[in-house]
Amino acid sequence: MSNHPLILVLNCGSSSLKGAVLDVVSGKVLLSCVAEKLGFADAFITFKADGDKHKVALGGDHSHTVAVEALMAELKVHHLHHKIAAVGHRVVHGGERFTHSTLIDDQVMRDIEACIVLAPLHNPAHILGIRAAQAVFADLPHVAVFDTAFHQTMPEQAYRYAVPTELYTQYGVRRYGMHGTSYRFVAQETARFLGRAETELALVIAHLGNGASITAVLNGQSRDTSMGLTPLEGLVMGTRSGDIDPSIFSFLQENANLDMAEITAMLNHKSGLLGLSDLSNDCRTLEEAAANGHKGALLALEVFAYRLAKYVAAMTVANGRLDALVFTGGIGENSTFVREKVLSHLAVLGLSIDHDANLAACFGRAGIISQPGKTPLALVIPTNEELMIAQDTAQLAGLSI
Ligand code: ADP
Repeated sequence: MSNHPLILVLNCGSSSLKGAVLDVVSGKVLLSCVAEKLGFADAFITFKADGDKHKVALGGDHSHTVAVEALMAELKVHHLHHKIAAVGHRVVHGGERFTHSTLIDDQVMRDIEACIVLAPLHNPAHILGIRAAQAVFADLPHVAVFDTAFHQTMPEQAYRYAVPTELYTQYGVRRYGMHGTSYRFVAQETARFLGRAETELALVIAHLGNGASITAVLNGQSRDTSMGLTPLEGLVMGTRSGDIDPSIFSFLQENANLDMAEITAMLNHKSGLLGLSDLSNDCRTLEEAAANGHKGALLALEVFAYRLAKYVAAMTVANGRLDALVFTGGIGENSTFVREKVLSHLAVLGLSIDHDANLAACFGRAGIISQPGKTPLALVIPTNEELMIAQDTAQLAGLSI
């Protein structure tokens, strides 16, 4: 086992906690855990380490603190507890206050609290998780890494909505964007993979998982992105609609007798690939069904790919030019079908696909999938948000690695 300092990365939801212990130098995950049903009597945590997986019931008050205590006990079993040098926390929303990752102190906690209005489901859970971790790992530096921070370089023409100015100045209604940690990692990795400086590249990066977004990254900085005030805007996603006509709200209120909360829930949880296919939110399932003649599944994938292709063109405008289109996330890294469909719409930008290279760049393998000698390039670059959080944490904690 290495003697590098280890970083604990935590990602807390309201009833869940995901943790990973990483060696920042090798990028290796030495132990990981997922706690579920926190706050409920049947809360439990599942640990994975050394190829072993086991589940432990969480007693006490079934809280985030109990989960972090159980994690500490497990770290002791593996003799890892004394090697953890810092804790990195994923925080969804940093509003306009956070443009970079930061060491957590009382003021930072107050600022994360002030962003609750922008992420009412996520930020309170992160605060619970940070407090729990600070109680159990009291002597260690704690760092917050924000999904929104990377997008704070967007120019005003990209982040403002065409609505009355006071909605922005009084309520903070603007585009914030998400998946920033992933974009930062993938932009760096793309430059490394191509042997070029990040500061000379015009990239369009599509992060395609259950949640999906796309970002224009010019010279290492976000210039525009598809997610907005919330993660509902933009691309077609697993269960989210992405862009719609905002009048759909009043139309459904009047004609379908639905209230605001019901419509919002429908657009977030029953739409996207699931809504279009009437079958599933899962890309793999839809590909299989489409191959077997399921029309809804094929339509869902076609709408997904077409919307994405339109956004690639829009993000190319944001950058002013395009060196490479990069696919990442579960769908971007694995779906040869979706990549082929998207690229079939994009010959207009000079993009192309090499079928063998497309098949080869899967399951964690990076690769160029455009035709040899052709530009712009199309690439697959696997993301690693946990490693990015661990790297930021090590750097801000002043660890020499
Ligand atoms: P999350 O946003 O939850 O992190 P992921 O990045 O894990 O999501 O991506 C999940 C999506 O990736 C699912 O739609 C899944 O079907 C898709 N996916 C994973 N593997 C494949 C594959 N081999 N082919 C097509 N789609 C895949």
